[in-house]
Amino acid sequence: MRLYNTLTRTKEEFVPVTPGKVAFYICGPTVYNFIHIGNARSFLSFDVIRRYLEYSGYEVTYVQNITDVDDKIINRANEEGRTAAEVAAEYTQAFIDSMHALGVADPTIRPRATDEIDTMLGLITSLIASGHAYEVEGDVYFSVRSFPAYGKLSGRDIEQMQSGARVEVDQRKHDPLDFALWKAAKPGEPSWESPWSAGRPGWHIECSAMSGKYLGCPFDIHAGGDDLVFPHHENEIAQSEAASGVTFANYWLHGGMLTIDKAKMSKSEGNYLLLKDVLQIVRPQALRLLMLQTHYRSPFDYSRERLDEATAALERIESALRNLTWAVENYAVVPAAPNSIDDRNTSWTCDLLARIEATRRQFAESMDDDFNTAGAVAALFELVTAGNASIKDGIYGQSHQLAVIDAHDAIVELLGVLGVELEQGGGEDPLPEEAVALAAELAGYKGVLAAEALDSLLRLRQDARAQKNWALADAVRDGLAKLELAIEDTSSGPRLVRK
Ligand SMILES: [Zn+2]
Repeated sequence: MRLYNTLTRTKEEFVPVTPGKVAFYICGPTVYNFIHIGNARSFLSFDVIRRYLEYSGYEVTYVQNITDVDDKIINRANEEGRTAAEVAAEYTQAFIDSMHALGVADPTIRPRATDEIDTMLGLITSLIASGHAYEVEGDVYFSVRSFPAYGKLSGRDIEQMQSGARVEVDQRKHDPLDFALWKAAKPGEPSWESPWSAGRPGWHIECSAMSGKYLGCPFDIHAGGDDLVFPHHENEIAQSEAASGVTFANYWLHGGMLTIDKAKMSKSEGNYLLLKDVLQIVRPQALRLLMLQTHYRSPFDYSRERLDEATAALERIESALRNLTWAVENYAVVPAAPNSIDDRNTSWTCDLLARIEATRRQFAESMDDDFNTAGAVAALFELVTAGNASIKDGIYGQSHQLAVIDAHDAIVELLGVLGVELEQGGGEDPLPEEAVALAAELAGYKGVLAAEALDSLLRLRQDARAQKNWALADAVRDGLAKLELAIEDTSSGPRLVRK
């Protein structure tokens, strides 16, 4: 398995710290609002990467924090006349609900910043003790120049940053590049006791504290959107490596940006979409399928047309699965004659078995190559097409039937790896009884088998058409339509497909 590491700017072979296990940290949301679809794409991408690691046999510890204390939360609370804790609680629950709606699996551990203040105080204390941080009037700052490797993740040169930072210089800081680890509270703000002041942690220190506490250092994968590379992740590295003296995280994965109709998402321009609103107009499985058709590091362009295309693609998969199930349950299996090779049987069976194997191989090869979900989805669609083709004219022989079942199961399994969980129908299929009743009514069928009943209806329609009895032919068609069946005329005669 190879993955692109932002830190080294190359694709590297993935070698976990502990064989068979993956320690994975992903930056979570700041809970002051509903999440937008750009965030959703990032969380979805890493959910799929986690799922694939698990599918590949790794035991994954997946940690995602909740930033539940922050200026944005405090501002919103002040605007709405509520406490910051109330705002954070509301949007934490909204975030969890929307992740469930999108089919994103819960992390192994979901620490909240406000529950982890002691860990952060410990880390800040040790950074001060080792000369990497200093206190000024109750605030604590990290001394960027005390960490010579600063800039290694984002590839930025510290001197260039220096000139950019001069514009607004906080005179109390030793250096304009230094950033806050602890902020003294202003009146009315939420605060926690500390050796320096009653205050709250800076954003960056949270992730260093929580990832170190739950995963240890070095851990395997640190992930987030590429807007977090600088300064957030750069600062996390500086804090953690300055404190521990060891590598913080071995692989840094960053997801690409999302545009809407080819324009940058911007709240002020009105070009902005919340996940919860998008999920009002599209099924989560279709949104997942759409987003996964673009590699996670590439920019992703959202549009209503693409959403509709993804819905159609999802329906194509579901229809194929219904067709395969239906064919297995309702087609009479025509046995191959003893000691003879039925070439329809052998060619369809072999083609389908070869396609299942190829799809599984292409799926794994794509995903092993930096989690190329686009390639994996393309391989799946080839199997969908092959599955449909293989039952076009019936099922010949038991091995053909088994191959059809295999194709169905492979599609469901691989979609599941991508977190595209399909509704499997569930409950009794009402078709057989109703088909028998329809055949009894129109064709005088006297048996009890759905497959025979449907055959008799198809024959009746053929006969009716041959006799130009269009009313009867239409009655058969309409009766089948009520059972959600459509007649498809093929080279070897008509067959039924589930609508
Ligand atoms: Zn973070």
